[in-house]
This record gives sequence, structure tokens and C-alpha cells, in this order.
Amino acid sequence: RKITIAIDGHSSTGKSTAAKQLAQELGYLYVDTGAMYRAVSFFALSENLIHNGILDKSKLEQRLHEITITFERHPENGNNEVCLNGRNIEKEIRTLEVSSVVSKIAEVSAVRSKLVEQQQKMGAEKGVVMDGRDIGTVVFPDAELKVFMTAAADERAKRRYEELKKRGDHVEYEDVLNNVIERDQIDSNREDSPLVQAADARLLDTSHMDRDEQFDTLLHWAKE
Ligand code: C5P
Repeated sequence: RKITIAIDGHSSTGKSTAAKQLAQELGYLYVDTGAMYRAVSFFALSENLIHNGILDKSKLEQRLHEITITFERHPENGNNEVCLNGRNIEKEIRTLEVSSVVSKIAEVSAVRSKLVEQQQKMGAEKGVVMDGRDIGTVVFPDAELKVFMTAAADERAKRRYEELKKRGDHVEYEDVLNNVIERDQIDSNREDSPLVQAADARLLDTSHMDRDEQFDTLLHWAKE
């Protein structure tokens, strides 16, 4: 019997890596909802809707209908890569620039309702692993398995920093740490769908867990 698996939690806890691996193992669809908020952020940045860090919210709302987000399967690694109006922007959305505006974009209710509606459609059939901030609370409150992932902030920043460095991005550790902390703060305190652990979600603290241990725990829960 196929189920719906909702994986939420703080920034850079290893959610997407673990979720992707789990979906692959189970033969499920994997949906990275953070990539969708990042795609809207990329649009806002490219269209100059953000000046000195201030978002022109009403302009963004007016232009939301111009945004179509799709996923495209990478022919070699099989990953689901995000496209904005047909253009693959998977690489562009992982920068610190996008990370530094995305939580502001995710506060806009019209953005959330557009993306939540699409996520509910994508996951309408059982057999899906979706990761984000509000999957177990808002998108799929009836998900059979809900996981809330967290880890110490400095550990998360360290992992994200290594990832960005590996990509060749020139970033300072302090900036990455501040971004991780700031995003959690905005995500947890916004009015619409704040980041909270669903009452029926299992807590997974990955501070002292490597990827294999995280994956094994998730797989065990999924098969219970
Ligand atoms: O998962 P990722 O770190 O890529 O998400 C980027 C940002 O998108 C989060 O910090 C959060 O502000 C927003 N987000 C959200 N709801 C989701 C997924 C992501 O608000 N379901």
C-alpha cells in the first residue's frame, strides 16, 4: 500500500537529500517544494521586484500568473529539476542570493496558495515524498507519515557551506550561518503557515547522524 510522506523541518537539515533517497528506494514521486519557492524568488530577482532587499509585494502578486513552475527529469541522475516557464533553473536557485530572499517571498500568502494548490495536485496520488516547511501541517495534513527534521544551527550551516564551496560558490561561513538562522526565524514567525512541527510528526534530529543513518531511520518509519 502506497502512502504519503511529509518531511518538514529547519533549513539545511538534510531534508531533500534524505527525502530524495527515500523516494527512490520506495519508487515514489519526490517533490522538493523549497525549489518552488526558490523559483518564485528567482523570478522576483530577475524581474527586479526586489530593491535593496525590499520586495515589491503587490507587483509580485500582480505578476504571479506569469509564473509556471514544472519539474524535469535529469536524463543521467534521474533528479527532478525545477523549471521556470520552461527554463531549467535548478543551478541558479541554489545560490546564497536566492537563499537570502526566499523566506520573504514565502511570506506572501498569494505565493503560498498558488504553490500549495500545485503541490496538492502533484501529490494527489499516493506514493509521494514531499519536503518543505508546511507539508504535514497544510499541504497534506492527512499524510500517513510525517517527519520533522532538525539539527543544531552550526552543524546545518557547516553542511550548507561545504555544499556551496563544492559547487565553487565563494561564500563566507558566517554569511551561511546567518542565512540559515534568519530563514528559520522568518519561516517560524510568519503569519501564514508558519514552520511548526505537526502534532503527529516524528522528530528526527540529525545533528549527530550521517546520511545513511538518516535514511535508515526514515525507511524504517516508512515501512512500519
Ligand atoms: O527547502 P529550502 O531550504 O530549499 O526552502 C527554501 C525556503 O522556501 C525556506 O526557507 C522557506 O522560506 C520556503 N519554503 C516554505 N514552504 C515550503 C518550502 C519552502 O515556506 N513548503
